[in-house]
Amino acid sequence: MTTRTTCPYCGVGCGVLATPQPDGSVTIAGDPEHPANFGRLCSKGSALGETLSLEGRLLHPEIGDARVTWDEALDHVAKGFMSAVSEHGPDSVAIYGSGQLLTEDYYLANKLMKGFIGSANIDTNSRLCMASSVAGHKRAFGSDTVPGNYEDLEEADLIVMVGSNLAWCHPVLYQRIVAARAQRPQMKIVLIDPRRTVTNDIADLHLPVAPDGDGALFVGLLAHLDRLGVIDSSYIAAHTSGFEAALLAAEDWSIERVAGATALSAVSIARFYELFARTRRVVTVYSQGVNQSASGTDKVNAIINCHLATGRIGYPGMGPFSVTGQPNAMGGREVGGLANMLAAHMEFVPEDIERVSRFWGAPRMASKPGLKAVDLFAAMARGEIKAVWIMATNPVDSMPEANAVRTALATCPLVVVSDMNRHTDTMALAHVRLPAAGWGEKDGTVTNSERRISRQRPFLPLPGEARPDWWIIGQVAHRMGHGRAFDYEAPGEIFAEHVALAGFENEGRRDFDLSGLVDADYESLAPVQWPVRGKSVARLFADGKFFTADGKARFVPIQPPPAFALAPGSFLLNTGRVRDHWHTMTRTGKAARLSAHMAEPFVEIHPADAEALGIRRASLVRLSSPHGHVLVRALVTDRQSRGQLFSPMHWTDQFAGNGRIDALVAGKTDPVSGQPALKMAVVHAEPAAVQ
Ligand code: SF4
Repeated sequence: MTTRTTCPYCGVGCGVLATPQPDGSVTIAGDPEHPANFGRLCSKGSALGETLSLEGRLLHPEIGDARVTWDEALDHVAKGFMSAVSEHGPDSVAIYGSGQLLTEDYYLANKLMKGFIGSANIDTNSRLCMASSVAGHKRAFGSDTVPGNYEDLEEADLIVMVGSNLAWCHPVLYQRIVAARAQRPQMKIVLIDPRRTVTNDIADLHLPVAPDGDGALFVGLLAHLDRLGVIDSSYIAAHTSGFEAALLAAEDWSIERVAGATALSAVSIARFYELFARTRRVVTVYSQGVNQSASGTDKVNAIINCHLATGRIGYPGMGPFSVTGQPNAMGGREVGGLANMLAAHMEFVPEDIERVSRFWGAPRMASKPGLKAVDLFAAMARGEIKAVWIMATNPVDSMPEANAVRTALATCPLVVVSDMNRHTDTMALAHVRLPAAGWGEKDGTVTNSERRISRQRPFLPLPGEARPDWWIIGQVAHRMGHGRAFDYEAPGEIFAEHVALAGFENEGRRDFDLSGLVDADYESLAPVQWPVRGKSVARLFADGKFFTADGKARFVPIQPPPAFALAPGSFLLNTGRVRDHWHTMTRTGKAARLSAHMAEPFVEIHPADAEALGIRRASLVRLSSPHGHVLVRALVTDRQSRGQLFSPMHWTDQFAGNGRIDALVAGKTDPVSGQPALKMAVVHAEPAAVQ
C-alpha cells in the first residue's frame, strides 16, 4: 500500500509517496499532487528508502549503559526534572528541541515546559536556522508571517537570491525556478553570495559580496530607489509607517560607499540596483547567509524595507521570501518552539500569557522569555541548568563553540536525549536515552517555508520499543503529576487542541488563523496553507493590511555594521551544506550513493591563498580558532574569494575523526534574534603536520 507523506529534510516540504515492498525495502516517489513539488524530488528525498535500516538505531530505553523498561526510564526523567525544579526552581531545567520534531511533538514539549514546569527554557535548533527572519517579520509585519508562495518564484521577472545556495539546499525550489525560466526567458536572476556556488549556474549576475556586506547592499538600494524616484509614495503613505526614518538612515549610502562596504565594483552594484528599480515583479529569496549573522535581523529588515518602499509585497511574483532550512522550522514557530514565543504566535505579554494559561489550565505558566540556544548552553556551562532534555538533535556537533557545549553537557547533572539514533556525539553524553520514532514511523504534521501544513504519515511499524515523541512527553508529564492535561490517545487530538488554541478568545485574529481546520479530518488532511479562514488564504497582504496595531507595515532604520577587518594571516570561515547530506548525517550517512557525492569533510580555499600557505590540492589542512581545531581536505578553487574559506557542517567525530566544523565558530549572536553567526568564524589555516 502506498502512503502519502512529507519529506523529512528541508523546508521545501515535498510530498512523498512511500510504498513498502514485500522484501522489506521501501519505494519512494515524489507526490504529483503535492503543491510543493508536483512529483519532483531531489537526491536526498529520492534516497529516503536507503536510509531506513535499523542500523545504529536506539531501540530500547537506557539509563547509563543499562537497558531499562520504559517505566523505569520515564520515572527517572520525571523524578530528575521535579527534583531539580523543587531544589533550584523551574529555570534550572531546559528542553532543547529540533525542526525535525512534528508540530504535535513541539506543541506538547512547549505545553509541558511553559505551562506546567513554569519556565520558558525551551529552545530549538531552529534558532540556528531562521530566528533572524522571525524577528525581522515581527518588526516589519507585526507577526512572524512569511508573505510568499512558491508560485511567486515562478511568476517573478527578477529573483534576487541572497545568502542562499538554493541549488543544493532547497533543490526542488531551484528545479521549479529552472523550469519556469525555460518558459519565461525574460526572468532575470541575481545571486548575492560571497561564494560562487552551483546556484550561480542560472544567475545573470553574481555579486560576491563581502561577508555581512549584504546589509549595506540593501540599505544602499533603498537610498538608490529614492534617488531614482521609483519609490511608491502612495503605497508608503497608505500602508506603512517609518519610511522617513529608514530613508534618513540610508541616504548617505551612495553606490561608492556601498562598494567600499561590500567589496563589489560600483558597476555591478549599479547593474543590480537598476534591475531591481526597473522590474516590478521582484522576489528576494534569502536563507542562512542572511539569517546566520550577528546583524541577521537588520539584514532581513533591510531587504523588507526595499519591498515596502516599492509596494512590492502582497502581489503575485513579488515579495521578500525567507526559506527555512528544516522540515518543520515553521511548525515549531507556530506552537511557540522558540524560548521567546508562546504557542499560536502569541507573545510574552500579560494578555497572551493569561489566555494561554487559561486555555491549558496551566498551574505554573512561564511569565517571561527563556534562554535562547547559545545562552542556554552557556548557562549550563555555568552550572545553572541542572537537567536538560534534548529531542531529535545533536548540539554537540551543530552548536557554535561545540567543544564548550560538549563540556557543558558533560557537567550537567541530568542529560536526557530522545532520538532515533544511538550513536550521536550528544547521545554519548546522555544519562537517559529514550528511543524515539523516526520518519516513516511518526504520525503528525509539518509546515513548510510557504506556510503549508502537510501530514507526515507512518508506513512502517515502530521498531523495538521506539515510541513517538508526543507519547514520551505525555508520559513524563503524567509522572510529573499533570496527567489530565496530557491525556492524548493520538496526535490528531493534539493537532485539534493546537487549532483550538489558535482561535481561543481570538475571533478578530488574522495572522495565525486556523479556524478553517476546526472540523478538518486529520487522517485525510490535504496540504493547506495558513491562514485558513474557512478556506486557505494563499495571498497575504494583498489588501495592504499588516498585523501591527495600526495595520501598517513598519520600516526599520538600518545601520549596517562596518566592513569586517581581518587580522593578517586570518581567514573568515563560512559554514554550510553540501548537496547530498543533511545536518550531522545521522540519516543521509546511511545511503552509500549520498556519501559518494562528497566523501569527506573539506575546506574550499582560493588558489592564491593555498599557494601562499603551502597548501597543496587534496592535502590535509588544519583549521583552528580559539574554540577548537579540525582536520579537513583542501579543495583549492577560485569559487572562493581570497581571505575566505568554506567548509560543510555535516561531518562529526563519528564520521570523520576530527571534522566538527562548528567547534571553530564563536558563540556570537544577533542581538535581536539570538541567532548565532555561523557564517563568519575567524580562523587560522595551515598545512596539517600529518599528510
Ligand atoms: Fe526533501 Fe527538500 Fe529535497 Fe524536497 S527539496 S525532496 S523537501 S530535501
